[in-house]
Amino acid sequence: MTDPTTGRVVIVTGGSRGLGAGIVQSYLDSGDRVATCARSRTDEVARWESEAADRFLFQEVDLADRAACASFVKAVVERWGGVDVLVNNAGVARDGVIALADDDDVDTVVDLNLKGTLQMTKLVVRRMLSGGHGHIVNISSIVGLSGYRGLVVYSATKAALDGMTRALARELGSRGITVNSVAPGYLRTEMSHGLDEDQLDQIVRRTPAGRLGEPADIARVVQFLTAPGQDYLTGQVIVADGGLTA
Ligand code: NAP
Repeated sequence: MTDPTTGRVVIVTGGSRGLGAGIVQSYLDSGDRVATCARSRTDEVARWESEAADRFLFQEVDLADRAACASFVKAVVERWGGVDVLVNNAGVARDGVIALADDDDVDTVVDLNLKGTLQMTKLVVRRMLSGGHGHIVNISSIVGLSGYRGLVVYSATKAALDGMTRALARELGSRGITVNSVAPGYLRTEMSHGLDEDQLDQIVRRTPAGRLGEPADIARVVQFLTAPGQDYLTGQVIVADGGLTA
């Protein structure tokens, strides 16, 4: 831990809204210091900047831009001295069958979900290695495990993140760093606005928990995986979907 009296230093990518915002809120509630980034600011970001000014940092960053990722991580380390937790949350989906996929859409999804996540991880792991500890959580998806018609590229990137989780856990296990994936089911966020009411109803009917997921449901799992002293659960994909794929 960088300094137990001031809370851990946590980076959550894509924390301006949706699941990322729920995860940011949960770490702020735990007394940690949280840095997040997105391409644009939101009211939520403005609220944290005024309510938790000394424990919150936001930068406008396009995670598909490697240089921008580097200057964001540098800013966090300059301000707080290190990084204890990285939650790779930012992600994007583009609907459509693969035969008609637009090449720019393919690049957008791969550049953020896979390359951006790899880049952030590389930069943060360097810091964690010198600190001798750390927790990394990759937000993947149940569609990376089961697939979903019309989400081939997105599913491929999420399955890739799970592969990255397993390999990285092996690479970093002896260095005190855990790496896990959390694979959510369907959440009530902007990303799921592409699903129509019939699709959402069908998902809810098939879900033993009887509802869609909320950001707080997933934030609780992320907190568990990154709890201080949690150093034995690593290299796993934790499915949090209300039982949908049980
Ligand atoms: P969301 O509401 O669309 O939020 C995505 C966040 O990522 C926003 O803060 C967004 O801000 C940021 N972002 C997008 N592109 C970015 C870029 N190029 N550079 C930096 N930040 C970027 O999505 P969500 O539903 O919360 O999803 C969060 C994660 O959960 C994603 O990895 C998603 O794949 C995963 N997930 C979601 C669901 C679901 O049902 N919603 C299910 C399973 C997994 P800007 O647009 O301003 O950049």
